[in-house]
Amino acid sequence: MLFPSRDAHSSTRGLKVFVAVICLAIVGLEGWRDWTERQQEFARIESEMQNLARSLAQHAEDTFDLADAILVDIVDRLERQGAEANSMIGMQEFFSERIQTLQALKALTVYGANGFVLGSSLPGHKRVNVTNTVFFQHHAASPARKWFFGPLIRDPLGGDWILTMSRRLNKPDGTFSGVVQVSIPPRYFGNFFGRMDLGSQGAIVMFGTTDGKILSRYPYFEKAIGIETETSEWLTGSPSGSRFYVSPIDRVPRLAGYQRNHVYPVVVLSAVSQQEALRNWTLELQLRLLGVAVLIGIICLLGWRLARELSRREQVEAELAILAATDGLTGLANRRTFDSRLEIEWLRAARDGIPLSLLLIDVDQFKAYNDLYGHQQGDACLRKVTAVIAGGVTRPGDFVARYGGEEIVVLLPDTNEDDAIRVAEKIRAGVEALALHHEANAPTYTLTISIGSVTQRPATDRSLAGPAGLIDMADKALYQAKQSGRNRVSVAKAA
Ligand code: GH3
Ligand code: MG
Ligand code: MG
Repeated sequence: MLFPSRDAHSSTRGLKVFVAVICLAIVGLEGWRDWTERQQEFARIESEMQNLARSLAQHAEDTFDLADAILVDIVDRLERQGAEANSMIGMQEFFSERIQTLQALKALTVYGANGFVLGSSLPGHKRVNVTNTVFFQHHAASPARKWFFGPLIRDPLGGDWILTMSRRLNKPDGTFSGVVQVSIPPRYFGNFFGRMDLGSQGAIVMFGTTDGKILSRYPYFEKAIGIETETSEWLTGSPSGSRFYVSPIDRVPRLAGYQRNHVYPVVVLSAVSQQEALRNWTLELQLRLLGVAVLIGIICLLGWRLARELSRREQVEAELAILAATDGLTGLANRRTFDSRLEIEWLRAARDGIPLSLLLIDVDQFKAYNDLYGHQQGDACLRKVTAVIAGGVTRPGDFVARYGGEEIVVLLPDTNEDDAIRVAEKIRAGVEALALHHEANAPTYTLTISIGSVTQRPATDRSLAGPAGLIDMADKALYQAKQSGRNRVSVAKAA
């Protein structure tokens, strides 16, 4: 190739890479930001849910404390006056009054040592017997005077689900004389939980920690009460925390905060649906993604246009570079390109200790040719001659340039004198063989050329005045060829 190749598309590719990197950076930063915001949103909701669970667990504790205070009061009163069947006459009204203002309590009932109802805030249950209930069996068997909580049972006085709290009644001698029991309807907690705003998919659940059964729930429905859930960390592990879970009741994935009560065996969890928890975040995400997509679209569009413009300019520059280095008429390298090439080859030959040959070619009687056939014809002729010359050199390092006017120069690196003469002769014969008629070029009357050939070894020929000297010698040899009758090769002799 005539000229060193230059990657015309390198800056276009650089620009595209730059645009891609910018886009990736925007996407990366945006993704990172969205992810952190998602985490922050979760953390905020978790803490909100934990706080709510804590206050609801406290409310449950207060409710149970209140129920127990009533138990303590009744036990004290009955133990002083004796819990006999006949001493209960008139007590029903007292019981009713005691609990009717308290929404949390459904009934207050006293059972005798035989398990039959002695008195109750709900009238007409004299025949009910509770000897097979857990709370009765507990008090009958244990002398402990502490409250007994649960478990969740069907009300012996009705059939609804109830939570029970009870205390043992003793005779003066300390033997078992019965049980005082209050019942708390799960619906009471369900209603209370329903006052909290947890979105349309939120839930609040109270479990018993001893058996993992659902004691109450919002949204409240009868079927959910008493369901045994998987025993999980909110029953055993840390007393409070948060986690994701899929509701076994309605299959909604939720984010929950929970709090276990340290006095009573219950745990309360409050939860919002994952989807609703992230609704705001998702909405903002969609808007931001739209914004980012538009931004990236604009950047890509501008980048693409810029790359196209850059590519166009680079192409023009490359064409200009070729134009600046070549000769318009013949397509050969021009004088300027030749000068720098000669300099390089001279130095290379000097360094490697190899010969450098140069042929200076001039068309014979060309002025006359122009005069005879016109300048246009002269140009066409010159193109044919240069084509023969360019075709006459074959090695990759060989270099042909238009030196000026109708003079052509051929640079033959690493070529000795004999080989240079051989190439010159081949070119000369080639032009003659074109057999272009030239009336004024006696004696052949065809177009011919004369060639001055010179070969030097720059490493050893210290006397030479550099590459310029080489041209000088070739010029002299060419003059010699002209003098000797033209259409020949003349070889420069060392001075
Ligand atoms: P000689 O055999 O001694 O070389 O005679 P000559 O007439 O060729 O003399 P010289 O080399 O001095 O003449 C150069 C002429 O070449 C002058 C000009 O008319 C012609 N010439 C130079 N460049 C061009 C060109 O680009 N196109 C054409 N048509 N003619 C050119
Ligand atoms: Mg000339
Ligand atoms: Mg000439």
